[in-house]
Amino acid sequence: MRERVLRVEDLTTSFRTDRGLLRAIEGVSFEVGKGEILGLVGESGCGKSVTSMSIMRLYDEKYTVKYSGKVWLDEREILSLPYRKMQDVRGHDMAMIFQDALSSLNPVLRVCDQIMEPLKIHQGMNREEGFRKAVEMLRLVGIPSPETRARQYPHELSGGMRQRVMIAIALCCQPKLLIADEPTTALDVTIQAQILDLILELNHQLQMGVILITHDLAVVAQTCQRVAVMYLGQIVEEAEVSELFDHPLHPYTQGLMASIPRIDTGSRERLHMIAGTVPLLHQVPSGCRFAPRCPYASDRCKQCMPELTESREGHKVRCHLIKGVKADG
Ligand code: SF4
Repeated sequence: MRERVLRVEDLTTSFRTDRGLLRAIEGVSFEVGKGEILGLVGESGCGKSVTSMSIMRLYDEKYTVKYSGKVWLDEREILSLPYRKMQDVRGHDMAMIFQDALSSLNPVLRVCDQIMEPLKIHQGMNREEGFRKAVEMLRLVGIPSPETRARQYPHELSGGMRQRVMIAIALCCQPKLLIADEPTTALDVTIQAQILDLILELNHQLQMGVILITHDLAVVAQTCQRVAVMYLGQIVEEAEVSELFDHPLHPYTQGLMASIPRIDTGSRERLHMIAGTVPLLHQVPSGCRFAPRCPYASDRCKQCMPELTESREGHKVRCHLIKGVKADG
């Protein structure tokens, strides 16, 4: 059993809107171990990014959101910390990298200044020490001529290099937890493979916990040890990667799997599509949230929300059908 870095328990995030409080994620619970990479997957609008932004507490709590639940980083509960105290946690104990490095980096600051900022705030480094560390970090993430690159601005770097700079900023204080929100989506496949390899290598080297948010199951298969599938703000299935790929139980996960293009069948079959779209937050069904799109939905599914329960060892699923199969078996 791995040493635990993060425990999220019953996390619910609601947005204040003209229609009242709308729950974007509800009852989300999972853990991440030291050195473990957990994949968080699902379609756009399923709540993956809201989950990560909520763990980091990056939404404006005064006007925009209301949180409930618990988030432990090591043994420290951080969801109830005074907001100002979170500034000591973010960038130091946990860090995040985003999808679009160009819009996440500051265009008017040189690369070294952006890496040095958390080092000054969290470790009190002076300019000289900070620059040395910035160069070291650029070297660690595989940027050639790091002394020269450190003095450049983001627009002078390629997309892949900018993403490496984001990783360098996130890791410069050696966080216990790294959240990577679609870190390769904006990159071409070759650079994507390099960035994923880099995350894997650094994860192995630094033994941090990683949450990798992606809609790409191939990325999960290559990179993660465990995976949680989200649908409409809830986790609907969670298991070890090999277990989930070999035995997907939830109809939504099965739909995602069937949507992966295959080159080994030699046929020209049309790709499977999950019917319909993710409903809007003010149109969330009262029973199983996947019922309007599920080919197996029954009256019970439409009236009663299934719980996330363990159906095989270490394999949790939220579906009435699976519990029924288990009870019959
Ligand atoms: Fe489909 Fe019912 Fe299972 Fe929901 S509970 S996924 S509607 S079978």
